[in-house]
Amino acid sequence: MTITRKDETISIICDTCGTTFRKTFPHDEFAVMQREIQQEGWKPRRKAGAWEHACSHCAQSQDGRLL
Ligand SMILES: [Zn+2]
Repeated sequence: MTITRKDETISIICDTCGTTFRKTFPHDEFAVMQREIQQEGWKPRRKAGAWEHACSHCAQSQDGRLL
């Protein structure tokens, strides 16, 4: 998971292609962020003990490879 904190906001970046999610969130709304990104098709993935996130585009292509 690539999350950057700047001032009092957090933004999330796709670990595959580097796309930044279209909005940022207050630093204390991590759970809100998780819900919103998943509503838009972003997918958290657990990998080597760390969380990664894929944007909706990359999540689809990754799912396609798994099938
Ligand atoms: Zn991506």
